[in-house]
Amino acid sequence: MAELEGLEFGKSDFVLLDEVNMEQFMENLKLRFEKARIYTFIGEVVVSVNPYKQMDIYGKEAIDAYRGRELYENPPHLYAVADAAYKAMKRRAKDTCIVISGESGAGKTEASKYIMQYIAAITNPSQRAEVESVKNVLLKSNCVLEAFGNAKTNRNDNSSRFGKYMDINFNFNGDPTGGHINNYLLEKVRLLRGGSEEMLGSLHLQNDPVNYVYTREGAASTTSNNDRSNHRAVLSALQVIGFSEEEIDSIYRILGTILILGNLQFETDSESVQVVGSEAVSDIAGLTTTEPDNVTKSLLYRTVATGGGEVIEKGHTEKEACFGRDAFAKALYERLFCWIVARINAVIEVKDYNPVLHGKNTVIGVLDIYGFEIFDNNSFEQFCINYCNEKLQQLFIELILRQEQDEYQREGITWQHIDYFNNQIIVDLVEQPHKGIISVLDEACLTVGKVTDTICLESMDAKLGQHPHYTSRKLTPSDKTMEFHRDFRIRHYAGDVTYSEPYYVRCIKPNEMKSPVLFDDARCQHQVAYLGLLENVRVRRAGFAYRQPYARFLQRYKMTCEYTWPNHLMETDREAVEAIVTQHGFQDDVAYGHTKLFVRTPRSLFTLEQERAALI
Ligand code: ADP
Ligand code: MG
Repeated sequence: MAELEGLEFGKSDFVLLDEVNMEQFMENLKLRFEKARIYTFIGEVVVSVNPYKQMDIYGKEAIDAYRGRELYENPPHLYAVADAAYKAMKRRAKDTCIVISGESGAGKTEASKYIMQYIAAITNPSQRAEVESVKNVLLKSNCVLEAFGNAKTNRNDNSSRFGKYMDINFNFNGDPTGGHINNYLLEKVRLLRGGSEEMLGSLHLQNDPVNYVYTREGAASTTSNNDRSNHRAVLSALQVIGFSEEEIDSIYRILGTILILGNLQFETDSESVQVVGSEAVSDIAGLTTTEPDNVTKSLLYRTVATGGGEVIEKGHTEKEACFGRDAFAKALYERLFCWIVARINAVIEVKDYNPVLHGKNTVIGVLDIYGFEIFDNNSFEQFCINYCNEKLQQLFIELILRQEQDEYQREGITWQHIDYFNNQIIVDLVEQPHKGIISVLDEACLTVGKVTDTICLESMDAKLGQHPHYTSRKLTPSDKTMEFHRDFRIRHYAGDVTYSEPYYVRCIKPNEMKSPVLFDDARCQHQVAYLGLLENVRVRRAGFAYRQPYARFLQRYKMTCEYTWPNHLMETDREAVEAIVTQHGFQDDVAYGHTKLFVRTPRSLFTLEQERAALI
C-alpha cells in the first residue's frame, strides 16, 4: 500500500499504528485533523473528521486522481471508497452499498453528497442526454429532501431528521439509469422561510418563523438572505424534478396548515374544551378545503368503540386536544414528506429496462443514517434510531463475516475464528414476537382503558426481566421530567466488527462549536469508542488485512525481485509471488490461496511499496 504522504501527517491507515490502543489511535486522529488530513483508512473503511471549513479536495483534479485507481494508490478519501464501490459493482456486476454513519453534525450528509457527485462525475463519459437528465434529478433530489427532511438543531444547522437510503441503478455500461430513495424515521418538523409575500399572504402566513411555535426554536439565528436563496433553489429543484404548479401549491397549503395548527390553543369553559379564536380554524378549513365545523370536530373529539360495538364521539380534555393537535401536525408532515419522496421516485424509477437488451442492471446504495444517540432523556425516537443501528450492525455481522469466511474457504486458507459480539440477542430482545419490546409496547397500545408508563414497564419487566441485556430502574422524583416513573435500558452493542466492507464511512464530529480548529479529545474519544473503531482495527489486523490475486500482485511488485523482473520463468504466478515474498522475508506473514495472496499485516506490503517507490 502506498504511503503517499510523509509521516508528518500521521499514519494514513490506523492498521499501521505501532500498537492498537486508544492513546495511539487518538494521537493519530488528532494529528491528522490538525494537519487538515480529515480522512484516514482502517483498511478499506474511511474514518472522516468534520473539518468545518471548505476543503480544496473535491475538485476535478481530485476526481481524476481517484478515478479507476486502487484504494491504496492515493491518500484516504471518500472518492477512494466511492471508486472502489463503483469498480466492484461494475467488475462483478453485483450490487454494492456504502454505509455512512456517525452522530448528528459529523458530516454524513455532506459525505453522501460528495460520493454522489463523484459517481455522477465519473459516469456517462459520452454525455448521453437521457443519462445526464437522470443524474440531474438524482442530484437535485438532495436539495428537496433536505428542505423537507432536515431541521436546524443546536447540534447541526442542517440536521437530517430522517434516514435516507438512496439506490442508484446502473446499466451494464456503468451509467446511471435511475434510482430509488427510501426514507425512514422522519423525525421533526421544519418549514420553509423566505417565501414571497404574496405566497405567504395567500396561505394566511407571516414570513417570520418566530411567529410559529413549530419553527420558533430553529429560527433564532438564520439569515433570511440565505433562506430566500435556499427557498428559490428548492422551488427550482421541485420544478426540475417535474412537480407541477398545482402540486407545489398543495405542498405550501399543507405546510401552512401545519404552521397554523401549531399555534392553536385550547381553553376549557364550563366543562367543554374549545379552540381559542375562530380565525385559525377558518384558515385551516380554507387551506384544506374542508368545512370549519369538520376542523373543529377533528380537533376536539375522538372516535371510540364501546364494549357493545357502538361507536361514539368522545370529547378531548384540553391536554388530549394538545397531544392530538401535535400528532395531527406530525402525521400531516410525515405524509407530505413521504408523498414528495414517492413523487421523486416515480420520476427516477428505471423504466423500460430490458435485461436481455440492456444487460444486467446493478445498484449502488448509499445509506446516510444517524448513528447511536445517547441523550439524558431518550424518547421513542432514540429507541427507534438505536434499534435501527442494531439491525444494521447485525446485517454486517451476518453478511460480512459470512463473506469473509466464504472467501477463506474458497481459497483453501485455514482461518482461525475471532470472537466477536453477535448482537442478534439484542435484536431479538427488541423484535421477537410476543415477548420483544415492540410487541409489549404494541400490546399496551391496544389495551382498552388507561395504559400508563408504569403498566407498560411492569409488563416489560415481567417478560424481559431475566434478559441479560435488559435492565430497568425506579427513578427518584428528581429524575423525572415527564410522567416516567421508571425507565428501561438496553445494553446496546457499541463495538464493531468490520472485516473486509470496503464501503463504509465513519464520521466523527471534532467539537460542539462547529470550529475548524478545535479537536475536543474527550468528545472524539467517546465517538471512537462507541463507533467501535479500535475493535475494527484489531479485527482488521487479526485477519488477513490485504489480499491480491497473484497476477495483480506480480504486476505491481515484480520489479522488486531479480527472479521476477522483467518476467518470471516459473511455472505459475504463485511461485513467482512466493519468490518475491521470500526475498523480502515476510513469508511468515502470508498465506497462499488458490488464486490470491493473503497478507496478514500491511507492514509487509508497506516495505514492498517503499522499495517500489524507490525504484520508479
Ligand atoms: P450530519 O449529516 O452527519 O448530521 P452534515 O453532513 O449535515 O452532518 O454536516 C454538518 C455541517 O458540517 C455541514 O453543514 C457543513 O457545514 C460541515 N461539514 C461536514 N462535512 C464537511 C466537509 N467534508 N467539508 C466541509 N464542511 C463539512
Ligand atoms: Mg445529515
